[in-house]
Amino acid sequence: MNLRIPGPVPLPDEVLELVGSQMIDHRGPEFAVMLDRMTRNLKAILATAADAFFLTSSGTGAMEAGVVNTLSPGDRVLSISIGVFGDRYGLIAEAYGAEVTRLKYALGQAADPDDVRRILRDAPGCAAVVLTHSESSTGVANPLEAIARAVHDESDALILVDAVSSAAAIPIATDAWGIDVVATAAQKAWVAPPGIAMISFSDRAWKAYEAAKMPRFYFDVAQYRQYLQIGQPPFTPCLPAIYALDHSMQAIVDEGIEAAFARHHERAEQARDGVAALGLELLPERSVASDTVTAVKVPQGIDGRELVRRVREEHGVVLGGGQQALAGRIFRIGHMGWVERHHIDGALRAVAKTLAAMRS
Ligand SMILES: *Cc1c(COP(=O)(O)O)cnc(C)c1O
Repeated sequence: MNLRIPGPVPLPDEVLELVGSQMIDHRGPEFAVMLDRMTRNLKAILATAADAFFLTSSGTGAMEAGVVNTLSPGDRVLSISIGVFGDRYGLIAEAYGAEVTRLKYALGQAADPDDVRRILRDAPGCAAVVLTHSESSTGVANPLEAIARAVHDESDALILVDAVSSAAAIPIATDAWGIDVVATAAQKAWVAPPGIAMISFSDRAWKAYEAAKMPRFYFDVAQYRQYLQIGQPPFTPCLPAIYALDHSMQAIVDEGIEAAFARHHERAEQARDGVAALGLELLPERSVASDTVTAVKVPQGIDGRELVRRVREEHGVVLGGGQQALAGRIFRIGHMGWVERHHIDGALRAVAKTLAAMRS
């Protein structure tokens, strides 16, 4: 199968082998060495000198950790949403009692930093802005640097970013842009199985932590910081994912982080060019299209669900379908992590053949 969904991503053989390795003592010396190396590599890839931690959860757990460690019930939060995952960040904040204001955009659009500027100026006292970097449901990358600048210019709000499907693939200058919490997960561009999520945590976030009253236990970052000093996680980690992640993060650092970003851009361009060559249209404007997932409009007269089903059954290519309001209207090609040119070519060829068959 050519698994072309926006996570979990397929794993190359050398990583699969590690996933099958024997368990070790997560409070023993081997783990401590691994955790130290992993933390250094995570901070390098996220471009931060602040803290960074590994949590045993999917990506949503990292998003939740950002919220519960920095905010109190009743805090005002601006949720910028350009799709399903943007909505989710607002819902998490709301579930813990934040007072959430929503800035929502049409599906396929990116957020406009000027709107963020205006909202924060008109309604001071916002404690945090939560947003998605690469919105996997629409294939759009938000202009994170410009949005972060707008937030810092107009407020003292923290910036919590769902970078689950962008980190390690699309540049994020965490410290330089003043991002307080970056949330990401192993099964996306990090080339590891699901089970581990990662967060960065800025000095400003630690200040907010002192006053933050939302309930937390499993995701309390103070426990992760304290245990890191003795080379341990506070709770039993998902070891198979850890083995893979350690290997894959080292591979990214060895390749060169900039080179990894360039490789993702190149594969994304290949996907976008290929879509255009088939006479199909992207959901977003090409200028805001994400380098990790390409969302394509299903052409008139074609049933999008049937297209995705037939591509899978007849060609062994697993595409992402549309989620929620976009169900049946788009299909998505994931291209994060380990992606070779033939993976993209194969997916596009399968779409072309299936469309031809459905039209005849
Ligand atoms: C995959 C993903 C998530 C997290 O999903 P989990 O299933 O919790 O790992 C969050 N945001 C984005 C943008 C994603 O692509």
